[in-house]
Amino acid sequence: MFSRKALQVSPSPTMSIDARAKQLRSEGQDIIGFGAGEPDFDTPLHIREAAVTALEQGFTRYTPASGTPELKEIICKKFLQDHALQYKPQQIVVSNGAKHSLTNIFTALLNEGDEVIIPIPYWVSYPEQVKINGGLPVFATTKKEHGYKLRGETLKKYITPRTKALILNSPGNPGGQVYNRAELAELAEAALKYNFYIISDEVYEKLVYDGREHFSIASLGDEIKKQTVVVNGVSKTYAMTGWRIGYTASATEIAALMSGIQSHTTSNPNSIAQRAALAALGGPQDCVEVMRRSFLERRDYALERINKMPLLTCTEPQGAFYLFVNVEETFSRKFKNVTVTDSDHLAALLLEHYLLALVPGKGFGAPGFVRLSYATSLENIRRGLDRLESFLKELQ
Ligand code: PMP
Ligand code: GLU
Repeated sequence: MFSRKALQVSPSPTMSIDARAKQLRSEGQDIIGFGAGEPDFDTPLHIREAAVTALEQGFTRYTPASGTPELKEIICKKFLQDHALQYKPQQIVVSNGAKHSLTNIFTALLNEGDEVIIPIPYWVSYPEQVKINGGLPVFATTKKEHGYKLRGETLKKYITPRTKALILNSPGNPGGQVYNRAELAELAEAALKYNFYIISDEVYEKLVYDGREHFSIASLGDEIKKQTVVVNGVSKTYAMTGWRIGYTASATEIAALMSGIQSHTTSNPNSIAQRAALAALGGPQDCVEVMRRSFLERRDYALERINKMPLLTCTEPQGAFYLFVNVEETFSRKFKNVTVTDSDHLAALLLEHYLLALVPGKGFGAPGFVRLSYATSLENIRRGLDRLESFLKELQ
């Protein structure tokens, strides 16, 4: 008999759709991929050069399991500059991507049966990671009129004596919601009152639009900072998805636990990638703004077109690089005499008949939706949306 925990876990739908799209493309099919959220830009040159230098200098050996001292110093500096948050290097753990950081956190915090509150819609990996680590995901509903953000009064309905943590993801994947200071303060108050942790996934922090600012819940005060684990990484900000560097900032005790776990599971993240991350976080930041502007242009174009299409509605994402589109109106309609049953079916039809890859909403806790990543060229977005439009015209 296999592990009960492993059997409960379903594969990541974002990763599998992306793999399928890439496979079809390698077979010569003209696939347009709105699947995985992965910047289409090259990693900026100065970052790649830092990796080359690291290789040439023979920086190819084990580093301390939780990351090099220089990288931790730069991460501390970043928190101070961006959020006036003071951390010491021993509070930082560098891992193989934010996904790895998250799983380290759950391993460090959860006991069997501990509950973790996850607002809907959520990034696909949170519930699975909680389950792998013996926890129970508790899904909290959010409302359209609240911009799909969790309110303090709603959160309270889900708190029990077994509540161990709340996962916050701002800017959010898939919804693009960005929490403001007041909204975060309500959630922090509940965390302090009922004594649970906040896991704040801030990987999209630099991708916010329309003059909004990203605010880190940890910067609301010393008390909430102690109860918060901030998760970040270089994948999204610096177009470094393949390099696999993520990091956390937390209370020293939690960092020590995660560092110990990591020392027995993966050891250090790739030494060369750590040097590249050092150049990314410590070097010039104008490349980030160039990419952000491109994402914004794409968001505006895609959103306007989607909202002009029949049967679809989408609220304006405030950050990240996804459109989360309500497709319920397409259900029960016919495509070539086949009735569209749900968003899984819709996504399958689009892939098969229009060579368009997008992610159905079920894995995000919102089966009436599909997610489109606009981290691809404007030309691809235009062609992909033309296909979507043609498909919708065929529905009866
Ligand atoms: N958190 C969120 C919300 C994400 O969308 C992703 C996607 N990659 C991650 C964490 C993990 O990022 P990575 O492991 O590439 O750093
Ligand atoms: N986070 C991205 C996404 O949601 C990349 C794939 C993944 O890590 O799940 O598509």
